[in-house]
Amino acid sequence: MANERIVGPIILLGAPGAGKGTQAKLIAKTFGIPQISTGDLLRDNVARQTPLGIKAKAIMGTGALVPDQLVLDMVTGRLREADCERGFILDGFPRTVPQAEWLDKFLETERESKDAACKAACAPPVVIQLQVDYAKLFERIAGRRSCPSCGRIYNVYFQPPKVEGTCDVEGATLICRPDDREDVVKERLKAYEAQTLPLVDYYGSRGRLVVVDGDQPVEEVMRQAFSAIEHVNRL
Ligand code: AMP
Repeated sequence: MANERIVGPIILLGAPGAGKGTQAKLIAKTFGIPQISTGDLLRDNVARQTPLGIKAKAIMGTGALVPDQLVLDMVTGRLREADCERGFILDGFPRTVPQAEWLDKFLETERESKDAACKAACAPPVVIQLQVDYAKLFERIAGRRSCPSCGRIYNVYFQPPKVEGTCDVEGATLICRPDDREDVVKERLKAYEAQTLPLVDYYGSRGRLVVVDGDQPVEEVMRQAFSAIEHVNRL
């Protein structure tokens, strides 16, 4: 059952297919904080054909990153929603050094203006890097299926649904993301290496990074991620 204590910000860092979405959902449920996936937020904008969605769609289709400013405008509103008051888990954000710098500034400003409980909710983040062998990422992504209704993630090889092609919870037909195609995945991995991997140094040098081997069973990754959340000193 979700508890009511202040958890603070948590960031999941990792290549496409490293298991960020799966772990983010488990952490969100256990700690009772929202999962904020910028990929999901962007896909929602694309589906609703908002001005942001129309701009983002073409870029996402190539595997490149959406420009920082568009993502930051979207994230600012989301982080100020009431359900973030005990903390939140970021999945797929930050993805560039300027996004990480922006987040540090944002949290600092929130700490200055709020009471003690809100200050803790906006403490410096715990960053969990899910490390997975590059060769295995393709298999993980190729097997990935998700429920269009509840967002639950499956993998036909490692974590299949009880009934093939059907969500265990919603009964909906599982779908494959359009950007999980091989040519797009290659571009997404390139973008990860060039633009996101520098965040390992950014957070490592600030003493906030915990590396977890993402190549273990989901439960073991979860156990180590939970331990990081409980024990990392946020000061
Ligand atoms: P994801 O579901 O996290 O793999 O994201 C899917 C796509 O959305 C990425 O390939 C990017 O095009 C875009 N995207 C998601 N999060 C970000 C972000 N923080 N910065 C820039 N682009 C993003």
